[in-house]
Amino acid sequence: MSLLVVGTLALDSVETPFTRRHDQLGGSAAFCAVAASYLAPVRVVGVVGADFPADHLAFLRARGIDTEGVELAPGRSFRWHGRYEYDLNVRHTVETQLNVLSAFMPRLPPSYLDTKIVALGNFDPALQLAVLDQLKAPQLIACDTMNFWIERERDALLRTLTRVHILSVNDSEARQLSGEYSLIKAARAIHQMGPRSVVIKRGEHGAMVFAPEGIFTVPAYPLELVRDPTGAGDAFAGGMMGFLTRRTEHPAAALRQSAVMGSVMASFAVEDFSIDRLRALTRDEIRLRFSEFKALTHFEADGALIWE
Ligand code: AMP
Repeated sequence: MSLLVVGTLALDSVETPFTRRHDQLGGSAAFCAVAASYLAPVRVVGVVGADFPADHLAFLRARGIDTEGVELAPGRSFRWHGRYEYDLNVRHTVETQLNVLSAFMPRLPPSYLDTKIVALGNFDPALQLAVLDQLKAPQLIACDTMNFWIERERDALLRTLTRVHILSVNDSEARQLSGEYSLIKAARAIHQMGPRSVVIKRGEHGAMVFAPEGIFTVPAYPLELVRDPTGAGDAFAGGMMGFLTRRTEHPAAALRQSAVMGSVMASFAVEDFSIDRLRALTRDEIRLRFSEFKALTHFEADGALIWE
């Protein structure tokens, strides 16, 4: 079983209070696909411009990612420039240049058409829908989005959401999309828009999964050093959907485990710039961090009540 990842392949400029990086490899599809590639076979759909370094695509292929669905278009690649405050949870978009993305219409290679599991990374919602329309029988569709699309393409996004099973957004995006301040009310409102489950990411405070079976919370892995928070959400989606591509049985339990794997991959993503920490992870590193979450969240409920 393969995972289809759709999203941006970007050249990112990132400023933190400690450093700046110019034109580094980024984009929702890059982070999502690389994180997922440790868990399942991955196929990518996206577009790059003539200025996109060939090394970046070669790296994706070296990770075993199928890039037949990546179109090389004349013009400049999608570019994003973000600035983080001293509180790294607070990010400002300085500039978004759509460039080749503005004229892109995805055409899936025939070998992709039977894909059953799809991660629609943060992307133009009309294009997310155009990808879904080409698939023969998708069974599990996850979708990520951000304020840029919620503000500009709300109607297209609402159409896409009617087809989506799992939506992942951060807390401010959940509030913006739903018009509700309470995250519980926001998740309920988003559920009415289509998605069965809603994952609300909260940066260093972890994530909440709102599913019909109940609410699950997963912490963020406590890291001593965060170098570049960019791509945490996409790596989360990649870890989660890569996991769900491998584990299709016991859906309710698998959804919770997949959220932990999402948090594991997000924690690796932020430890270094761009996708650098995700370049060469080992299975043992991933396994160890996954099991550390069990220790991190476990407590003895029996006999713990002090007034008994
Ligand atoms: P995250 O930190 O997970 O929210 O994702 C950051 C990544 O999203 C960066 O690498 C950007 O290139 C990419 N990105 C930023 N804005 C957009 C947008 N409007 N649409 C798609 N991808 C974007």
